[in-house]
Amino acid sequence: MALKAIISGGGIGGLTTATALAQRGWDVSVYESQPQLRVNGSGIYTWSNGLQVLRELGAYERAMQNPFKGLGIEQRDHNEEVILPPHLPAGVEVVTIHRADLLAALEGAARKAGVRIETGKNVVDAASDGTFRLANGDRVAADLAIGCDGVNSPVRAGLGIELFHERTAEGALRTTVLATQDEFHPDDRNRCIENWNGKRRLLVTPINDKEVYLALCCPEVDSQARDIRVLPVWAESFPHWKFLLDRIEAEVTWNVYSVIKCKAWSSGHSCVLGDAAHAQPPNLGQGGGMAMQNGLALAAYMANVNDARDVPTALAAWEAAMRPLVDTTQHWAILFGELANIPNEFRPEMIRNIVAHPFIDQMLGLAAGSTPISAVPTPSDGSAVTAE
Ligand SMILES: Cc1cc2nc3c(=O)[nH]c(=O)nc-3n(C[C@H](O)[C@H](O)[C@H](O)COP(=O)(O)OP(=O)(O)OC[C@H]3O[C@@H](n4cnc5c(N)ncnc54)[C@H](O)[C@@H]3O)c2cc1C
Repeated sequence: MALKAIISGGGIGGLTTATALAQRGWDVSVYESQPQLRVNGSGIYTWSNGLQVLRELGAYERAMQNPFKGLGIEQRDHNEEVILPPHLPAGVEVVTIHRADLLAALEGAARKAGVRIETGKNVVDAASDGTFRLANGDRVAADLAIGCDGVNSPVRAGLGIELFHERTAEGALRTTVLATQDEFHPDDRNRCIENWNGKRRLLVTPINDKEVYLALCCPEVDSQARDIRVLPVWAESFPHWKFLLDRIEAEVTWNVYSVIKCKAWSSGHSCVLGDAAHAQPPNLGQGGGMAMQNGLALAAYMANVNDARDVPTALAAWEAAMRPLVDTTQHWAILFGELANIPNEFRPEMIRNIVAHPFIDQMLGLAAGSTPISAVPTPSDGSAVTAE
């Protein structure tokens, strides 16, 4: 009989993990607290590692129905001067898409693989024996219980594995506006542009042939800049982009970021992954990538488990394999954010000399250039594939 997994959270991490497990013969149920699967946010950067996971799941085609594939991310200073032109490490690509397209692709792959998705089911607690308690009082049990329930994960709390959860000083207003590349100045086309001015940052990201995702980042204490009505201070800080900022019609969402570390990602027959386990500031565009890559790797380790009693050992092996990459990526995502604290006059020099230094460049792109684990060898089988 198939081993059974239950997953709290039907976001990027939950749907990826569910699909990958079901494709490997597991019986999988997802419990999502919202009335329907829904995204929070606008666009999302998906790098080679995330794209590879989508291919593994069979979700790539749907996710890439209308993507933006540019030259990479350009860095610009407070005077609109280019600090670093867009560049991508050899063999690495980045695609920006609407989050709704990503979620639809993952949901389609999950349903095709036979995953049961129950919406309106709020998981309130979890225990190490592979059980969840739901808000309606029900208890559900499985051979493996997985918390993919985001930064405030009740599963992580129930397992008592949190090391720390820190909210960052910076956050972002996020929205999309209608704009085509033809409307951009020729120097602004075919790229994503990260614009710096003081502690404010404006990320201009086309996500398809008609929409541009705007991320307006600032410290939470910058009360004018973090106002969800998007006040004129943004056009004052970034006059070159006023034509896009003027197109923001409604109030937008404001979120600060979380940094989460766990003592261990699992306890007994239960574990956490994605933001629930390793949330990071979005400076490298890898939070979702890490959630997907880690979910696929977990399924790869579980594919070799035939006896439920071996689940805890497989969970330990999964964490040993994935933790170095995930922790390193989180570390460099935090460090990159410190550029916001460098005064305007020194930032270009810092970016050119330090961020573009080959070692730092390698660290910042480590996750993007990594190969997702989709299979692990069993003791009797040396044929399956692992990667760094
Ligand atoms: C401003 C910003 C920009 C970002 N940009 C990028 C980017 O460009 N590229 C990238 O890769 N990442 C990016 N990220 C990070 C990325 O959004 C997250 O890392 C990713 O969404 C994590 O996926 P997840 O499934 O772990 O968690 P979530 O996306 O938070 O999903 C959690 C799910 O669990 C559900 N849930 C919560 N509580 C419960 C409960 N009690 N019971 C049942 N269900 C529950 C939620 O409703 C949700 O559906 C960004 C983040 C921010 C804040």
